[in-house]
Amino acid sequence: MDGAGVSETRSTCPYCGVGCGVILRPDGAGGLDVRGDPDHPANRGRLCSKGSALGDTLDRAGRLLAPRISGQEVGWDSALDLVAKKFSDTIARHGPDSVAFYVSGQLLTEDYYVANKLMKGFIGSANIDTNSRLCMASTVAGHKRAFGTDTVPGSYEDLDAADLVVLVGSNLAWCHPVLYQRVLAARAKRGTKIVVVDPRRTASCDGADMHLALASGSDVALFNRLLVEIYEGGAFDKAYLRNVDGFDAALEAAYADDPTVTGLSEAEIAAFCQLWMRHDKVVTVFSQGVNQSSSGADKVNAILNCHLATGRIGKPGAGPFSVTGQPNAMGGREVGGLANMLACHLDIENPSHRTAVREFWQAPAMPETQGLKAVDMFQAVGDGRIKALWIIHTNPAVSMPDADAVRDAISGCDFTVVSDITAETDTARLADVLLPAAAWAEKSGTVTNSDRTISRQRSVLPAPGQARPDWDILADVGRRMGFRAAFDYQAPAEIFREYAALSGIAGYFGRDFDISALRDLDDPDYDMLAPRRWPLTEAREGGRFFADGQFFHPDGRGRMLPLRHRAPEAKRAPRYPFRLNTGRIRDQWHTMTRTALSPRLSAHLAEPFLDIHPGDAAALALEPGDLVQVQSPQGNAILRARISSDVQQGDVFAPMHWTGETAPSGRIDALVAPVVDPVSGQPESKAAVCAVTKL
Ligand code: SF4
Repeated sequence: MDGAGVSETRSTCPYCGVGCGVILRPDGAGGLDVRGDPDHPANRGRLCSKGSALGDTLDRAGRLLAPRISGQEVGWDSALDLVAKKFSDTIARHGPDSVAFYVSGQLLTEDYYVANKLMKGFIGSANIDTNSRLCMASTVAGHKRAFGTDTVPGSYEDLDAADLVVLVGSNLAWCHPVLYQRVLAARAKRGTKIVVVDPRRTASCDGADMHLALASGSDVALFNRLLVEIYEGGAFDKAYLRNVDGFDAALEAAYADDPTVTGLSEAEIAAFCQLWMRHDKVVTVFSQGVNQSSSGADKVNAILNCHLATGRIGKPGAGPFSVTGQPNAMGGREVGGLANMLACHLDIENPSHRTAVREFWQAPAMPETQGLKAVDMFQAVGDGRIKALWIIHTNPAVSMPDADAVRDAISGCDFTVVSDITAETDTARLADVLLPAAAWAEKSGTVTNSDRTISRQRSVLPAPGQARPDWDILADVGRRMGFRAAFDYQAPAEIFREYAALSGIAGYFGRDFDISALRDLDDPDYDMLAPRRWPLTEAREGGRFFADGQFFHPDGRGRMLPLRHRAPEAKRAPRYPFRLNTGRIRDQWHTMTRTALSPRLSAHLAEPFLDIHPGDAAALALEPGDLVQVQSPQGNAILRARISSDVQQGDVFAPMHWTGETAPSGRIDALVAPVVDPVSGQPESKAAVCAVTKL
């Protein structure tokens, strides 16, 4: 409560994995004033343009206010009885693997927990995957291969303490702006050097000391060269390597790799390697440019190899650091929202883990193998193996690779349920049943940000119409499917306590994710929960991992991997001579369902565009602002040309936010091939091939 008697509420920004704290204050007109929370450890009061404009995006026009069946408004009982009956009947007739949930990093941890429990413990399938598969699945796979668990070793404080920050495939300045501000503040204070490794010149290069414009997909070759230089320069840490397997094999593979595939000069590579080796306090930040690749997991491990070889991990100012794109991608990873995870970083294919979770849940069924990952899931929808699908808070008809085929698959599915805050998404228009969900600021729960900090999102506005929180909708369907006791939740605090208690099992098995110290939080304590970084056990709180050389593989040792460069799957050819890179712009979020409501955010870049190099533009006789048709083997888009030497000759870049069908029309994921990393299942969203034609 402030001096004027107006109450303020602390919450967390819903846009990106930085997880900035916000303070919300009703504006007296049904909306909110939003400012940064000076006490939140992620942002210390700072917000970026998107976070600052949150109050502009709460307009209730266009909200879905009541459940609908085949477009007709109905009551909740009718809608949820139908959902429960269709799923139960489909499972009875075709087995548990004939149904699937496709969920979102927008879900709160409590929502995720209930969805995962319902699918994996009670339906008995692992067919639950999340749009986080498109964001950071390669990092999960890389972490697990190196460390034994999906563990982020460091914290944001490392960015303040580093002497060198290397941004790999990360336009931090636009995609995680508050973290970029922290890096710039460190540079001003302690002279931190910044290197950007990215095929494209981005806004992050403005503050950088070095930009390595490597060839698309060649990161493994660059970090293999760094590993060779680390060895030849004697910069490896012999003592640390006593606890790490695979150094010799990784080095042998690195020697066999060819650094010239990066397209960088010897002098550029040498300067980078010297800079990296000169600084003990080096943080390598990586994001979608690394993850969204058919060799994404290998790229992650190539980075981890260099940090493991030098022992620069888990120490103040030193370590590899994955930054996630979504507000609760980390919470989803922790709670088991991916088809290849169980819960609390336990493994679905480990019989002991499975038995322990099954007994904890008193679950009637538990799959023994992984479920379908996102791309495979929608292919199974398309060929009829998945007959009932529930999509929650995401828009795969636009955001999945090969989006036209995904749209057709959803359209042809026997039964599709969509939970969302609006009926006006490409995916919602295809639903048999539409369920109105509560939005940010209307629901309560927790999220985990990129440095393992769990923060509360809090409800400050009433949900409009009949909208309900997702955990509540999911639990209601679970009860209607006959699982009354297991889904008898009344409030998110109950779910959180159960989740925290379950994490104690992970601790028992020696896993990293243990927040069992929070299992007895009473409701007021849960309401007041301040940001806390896990692990949270009675013996250990917050902190960093792996400085002590203790890992989570059964033998306690870390792993370096032998890796070789693999080029992107799609090859340029005379018919498709350009490499298509996709990504975010500063002021929009995903498919713009929320950020487009803010005029000031939409003013930054108002329409979809294609960046093309001046040399390529000249060959196509393009002038700035010309409309171009961009065609790939999968689909096409019509975009406004921007002529820019920020992209390399032969490369083009287009943002991934726009959904419209009228020119310029930017459903850019319709052009992306459904090619995935074989280890992580993450699609290669940044290396399609295409043709460009002037219209
Ligand atoms: Fe929100 Fe991310 Fe911006 Fe922070 S950096 S205000 S979490 S969008």
